Amino acid sequence: MVKFIDSHTHCEFSPDSRMKMADAVEKVRIEGLGGIVFTDHMDIDTPTKDRTFMFKPEEQQAAIDKLENAEGTEILKGIEIGLQPQVLNKIKRYIGDSSFDQVIASVHFVDGVDPYHQPYYDGKNFIQAYGRYLDVIYECITTYTDFDILGHYDYIARYAPYAEKSIYYTDFSMQLDRILKFLASEGKALEINTNTYREKCGGVPELDTVVLCRFRELGGEFVSLGSDSHDLNRIGEQFSHYSEIIKSCGFDSVTHFKKRKAEKVRII
Ligand SMILES: [Zn+2]
Ligand SMILES: [Zn+2]
Repeated sequence: MVKFIDSHTHCEFSPDSRMKMADAVEKVRIEGLGGIVFTDHMDIDTPTKDRTFMFKPEEQQAAIDKLENAEGTEILKGIEIGLQPQVLNKIKRYIGDSSFDQVIASVHFVDGVDPYHQPYYDGKNFIQAYGRYLDVIYECITTYTDFDILGHYDYIARYAPYAEKSIYYTDFSMQLDRILKFLASEGKALEINTNTYREKCGGVPELDTVVLCRFRELGGEFVSLGSDSHDLNRIGEQFSHYSEIIKSCGFDSVTHFKKRKAEKVRII
């Protein structure tokens, strides 16, 4: 198997994770992957106040430095920043001078509501619910641009209660085009997050390959592959399958970032 890097994982510095860094590194070796990027959550001003999705970058990075650096296994320092319009000017203050290898920008909350829960969908059809999510992504990433990868652009489809379980290009071409054009022109990566395409809420969203092919057509160069693992058993999940899909859309490699520079792993 190609030595892909799992570029999106959560360990003990994320409150919702159930795996430890050291175990994850061991699992990477067992699975024959090339490495892992620990991208713990930093979500400022979450609507659910019961949990703090924050960590101290210096503590996470020190823990990574202490890991036994297995020969041939790349272990990188990352973060997944939760973007919301009202927090964009606070993010820098929290990150401080920490230098990460890779920064994922994600949207987890929309208009102050968590789309994990039903109230977000009340009074909205799927076009309105998904469309609003995509509009917020565009607003946030064009304002806060200090990131490398757009995380799970179709995250909202994971939890939505509709029969329409997927975000298809044909339904959201205007919203998707402006996001993809921006990523392509800024040299940022589009993430294929394999956690989205699992059974949840009575249905399985599927990746619309048209979105990926359109990204290529618009000049996109980088696609990343992340499991979004919070459990050991999901590390590198379905990477063979999705790397073939990525290749079929015209990309010859999968990308992760090291010291904020794109590194490509060729798909054979
Ligand atoms: Zn996320
Ligand atoms: Zn994540």
